[in-house]
Amino acid sequence: MNFTKNARSYRGRVLTTRPEQSVFKTHLEEDGVVVVGADGTILFVGPYSNNVPHPVVDFHPHVITPGFADVHVHYPQTRVMGRATGPLLDWLSNTVFPEESKFVDSAYADKVANEFYAHLIASGTTCAGIYATSSKSATQTAIQHALNVGIAAQVGLVLMDRGAPDALVVSREQALSDLAQLLNFTAGNERVKLAVTPRFALSCTPELLREAGHFAAQNKLLVQTHLSENVEECRATLAAFPGCADYLSVYESAGLVHDQALFAHAIHLSDSEVERMARAGAKVAHCPDSNLFLGSGTMLLRALLSAGIKVGLGSDVAAGRTFDMRRIAASAYDVALLQKAPVSLEELFALLTFGGAQVLGFGDTRGALTAGRMGDFLVIDVPEYTRQKSDILGQLLFASDTCKVIRTYLSGKKPNLP
Ligand SMILES: [Zn+2]
Repeated sequence: MNFTKNARSYRGRVLTTRPEQSVFKTHLEEDGVVVVGADGTILFVGPYSNNVPHPVVDFHPHVITPGFADVHVHYPQTRVMGRATGPLLDWLSNTVFPEESKFVDSAYADKVANEFYAHLIASGTTCAGIYATSSKSATQTAIQHALNVGIAAQVGLVLMDRGAPDALVVSREQALSDLAQLLNFTAGNERVKLAVTPRFALSCTPELLREAGHFAAQNKLLVQTHLSENVEECRATLAAFPGCADYLSVYESAGLVHDQALFAHAIHLSDSEVERMARAGAKVAHCPDSNLFLGSGTMLLRALLSAGIKVGLGSDVAAGRTFDMRRIAASAYDVALLQKAPVSLEELFALLTFGGAQVLGFGDTRGALTAGRMGDFLVIDVPEYTRQKSDILGQLLFASDTCKVIRTYLSGKKPNLP
């Protein structure tokens, strides 16, 4: 082995998918090593030997895994987690909108952003799809913190030109100008990107949706929004867009349904909508804990995967009650089992890591421990007596209270938290 200077080696039980070979298959290297170069790129992953570069940080018997992806999370809702004021439309009015209105105060936004990123890192999240608010400065705060901390993120200015309190409504002209400025702010950054983020159809005029679609296409940006979360919301959406035959067609008519689009929830869909999403290459953020907490319904994970739709897991804090993506994976498992359409532990692990990175547009550079990707990885305390790969996976996915995240590395470095 021939390594560049200043490489570092991390020894432990290495568990990862190898997406280039098979997305839903997990590999375990009992005595493995991850070698990371000075620029944070993974140089080698495989069996440990004496030839690996020094220093060697020995984490054995802890398990080294790729970082987790939370593909749908709202940073301004950090402080209102657990407020049981659902279902969706009541919860937005009673809990979310009053809290998000506070984020025009930049000191408040800054304080909460610190808390938010600390929660992500403590949970092992290294890659996230983040909704900010309709405030440009609050969005810029979220972007700046992501840049500082070292996490990979898609961050969105939340577009709302109707259907919200005055404090949150921003005109189409203003929102487009804010988007252009935020795009400048992130220009050229491969790790933290601006995502075009209409909150949902009900908070946007058709004109704003169309211009958002145009802005995203022109600048090759990810689109993220909510789709078919709650029955009442679906009904109200069709009433607000009378020309549209179903919810998805609201977004289709605005040019928002394509392979750079990520839709959260996707619960109450017709077969036709699923088929059209699959054909367009649209992605889905599955947020089972949020769906249970707000009584929204349960997404058909197996059906969407079978249709060929790419899926990642989202906490959807604060409709979700935890930043811990392993609890979200547990909910996804439970819901699928009750639907008699189970998912395997290997599938879940893939959704939690590579699948999430992929739907956020980081699939080529993150989400797995293979040479050439960035060194985003976790060290997790799985007991030494847990030896079988399936048992390690089970502990890792479902026993987050006992198998804690000991360390989080972002591009081979410790997170830069204040
Ligand atoms: Zn959400």
